[in-house]
Amino acid sequence: MVSWVGGKCVGRGSFGTVNIAVDSLNGTVFAVKSVDRNACQPTQIECLENEIRILRSLSSPYVVKYLGDDVSYEAPTTSYRNLHLEYLPGGTVATAADVATYVDEMILRSHAYCVVSALRYLHSRNIVHCDVKGENILIGPSSSSCKLADFGSSKEIDVSGVPILPRGSPLWMAPEVVRGEYQGPESDVWSLGCTIIEMVTGRPAWEDFGVDTLTRIGFSKELPLFPVQLSEMDRDFVEKCLRREPCERWSCDQLLQHPFLHSVYNTATVTESSPRCVLDRVNSEFQEEDEDDFGCEKFESCARERISKLASSSRGNWESDGWVAVRDYEAKEEKATREYSNAKNREEQRRSNWVIDTRANSKIENIGGGCNDEW
Ligand code: ATP
Repeated sequence: MVSWVGGKCVGRGSFGTVNIAVDSLNGTVFAVKSVDRNACQPTQIECLENEIRILRSLSSPYVVKYLGDDVSYEAPTTSYRNLHLEYLPGGTVATAADVATYVDEMILRSHAYCVVSALRYLHSRNIVHCDVKGENILIGPSSSSCKLADFGSSKEIDVSGVPILPRGSPLWMAPEVVRGEYQGPESDVWSLGCTIIEMVTGRPAWEDFGVDTLTRIGFSKELPLFPVQLSEMDRDFVEKCLRREPCERWSCDQLLQHPFLHSVYNTATVTESSPRCVLDRVNSEFQEEDEDDFGCEKFESCARERISKLASSSRGNWESDGWVAVRDYEAKEEKATREYSNAKNREEQRRSNWVIDTRANSKIENIGGGCNDEW
């Protein structure tokens, strides 16, 4: 017998309805995703069972929390399969994007950080989400944090090599998924890139012209338009997600080291007590939850390790050979940060050239000639 009472509907997707519910024993409020077992298509119930199975196995502060599942009956013949979830009252990233929430760059970065962390967690467990988009990211517990939801399409990677059949929401699908070739962690990263554009513009990254759009995604060399609101750093981050070749896309581990996310996170780890940026708050909210292996401690010990590598009892070797060796063995994340700051320096150089030219009151043009430089 169920011991909860269903309340108002808070969401409706293609697979089920989501209602708010109250536990009649202890008054706890939660969300219930339900599918009518008699009226639904077999695929709908399969999706819910798949979501239940996968969510049950997960525990991350960046993934909506599984609280239980059951079957409820409504006389005389109706029965529902129910998934109980923590209730996140802040709406979705898609609705937040509609009201220009992401004009605040720190909220954009903070939410992006949460999604990348959720995907990193899934990918490290050989799970592909397969449907990353604004509607499937719930905001909460506070406005600066969010959690990945809707695992109905998610799949475990088959170690024997059986491929995942293409699935997801077309406008967020990676080119290789549209072509039906492959769907893996890299495909989630593409969808993440589309989601960041969606956050900034309030619209899907691609305009929906049906099959024509799918043809462009799958079979052209085009990329979605990068919105003008994106800063240089944001653009660089999105570009790392939206590489048409899956093997060239950055992994979530690498993305977490990108200055778009990493510099803010680093600031957070050294500020210690008083929060000075959004990510301080993100972390403090999650402190009581299961901090998995990529929490503050890891970043702190990583920073300590890097600093201790710089300290040495012997004299430094400043010969050029020494530099080559250091660069050869450079850690991935250091390389990522270095690549970005080199690019940034070039951009600053280019801008200073503009300033010189303007001050000289001559025709405005880029005397540095670096305007079209590829990063
Ligand atoms: P889709 O058509 O995207 O596959 P779905 O049927 O699988 O949808 P969900 O995406 O899981 O359903 O949920 C539909 C909507 O319900 C969400 O977009 C969100 O607005 C709301 N919702 C889902 N889970 C929760 C939750 N835990 N707390 C609050 N609202 C929720």
